[in-house]
Amino acid sequence: MVSKRKQAIEALSRLRKTYPVTGPFVEWSNPLELVIATVLSAQCTDKQVNKVTRSLFLKYKTASDYAQANLKTLEKEIYSTGFYRSKAKYLKRIGEILVEKHDGKVPDDLADLLKLPGVSNKTAYLVLAKGFGKQVGVSVDTHVKRIAPRLGLVKENIGADAISDELGKIFDPEDYLDVNEYFITHGRAVCVRVPKCDKCNLRDICEYGRLKKIR
Ligand code: SF4
Repeated sequence: MVSKRKQAIEALSRLRKTYPVTGPFVEWSNPLELVIATVLSAQCTDKQVNKVTRSLFLKYKTASDYAQANLKTLEKEIYSTGFYRSKAKYLKRIGEILVEKHDGKVPDDLADLLKLPGVSNKTAYLVLAKGFGKQVGVSVDTHVKRIAPRLGLVKENIGADAISDELGKIFDPEDYLDVNEYFITHGRAVCVRVPKCDKCNLRDICEYGRLKKIR
C-alpha cells in the first residue's frame, strides 16, 4: 500500500490531467467581489451566485456601497441565493467593517478575514489563495468533504476544519487551491453523491472504489 501522501499526490496529478479546466466557480474581478460572492455561495450553487452578482456588482462597487445599503433592498437583490436575510446582514456588516477598519479594502490576513461575518475558514482560505496568491489552508466545501474520506485521505465523519488540517499536512501549500478546485470539479462530474466509480480513473487508488470492487 502506497503512503497516504503518495496516493494523494497521484490522485491530484490524475485529476489535473483529467480536467483541463476546473470550475465553473464564482465570478469576481477584485478581492471585494470575491469575498461577497464567496459569502453568497454558502448553501447555494456557484451558477446561481453568478446570476445574482452580475447585476449586484454593477450597483455595489465599493465596501462603502455595501455599508450604506438598504437592508430590505439588499435582501431582495440576493434573495435567490437562499438565507437572504442573514446574508444581507453579513454583506452590509462586511462593508461597514472594511470601511471602519481596513480603509475600505479587503485584508490579506487570515485573522482579519475571519473577523468578517459570514467568513469561515473555507471562505478565508479561498479569498487568500485566489485574491492574494497566499495558500494558507485547504478550503473544504461539500465536495472536498465527500471525496477526501472516500479516497481514504482523512477519517470519515470529521468536520470541515479537521479535514482541512489533515489535507494541509498531506499536500504541499502550493497545491492547496488545486486540491479544492479539482476535488470540486471531480465531485460534480464523477464522484457525485452516488459515485460513478466505474467511470473514475482514481478507482485503483481510492479506498471506497477499491472496496466496492471487492464486494
Ligand atoms: S473511485 Fe468512486 S469513490 Fe473513489 S474517487 Fe472515484 S468516484 Fe469517488
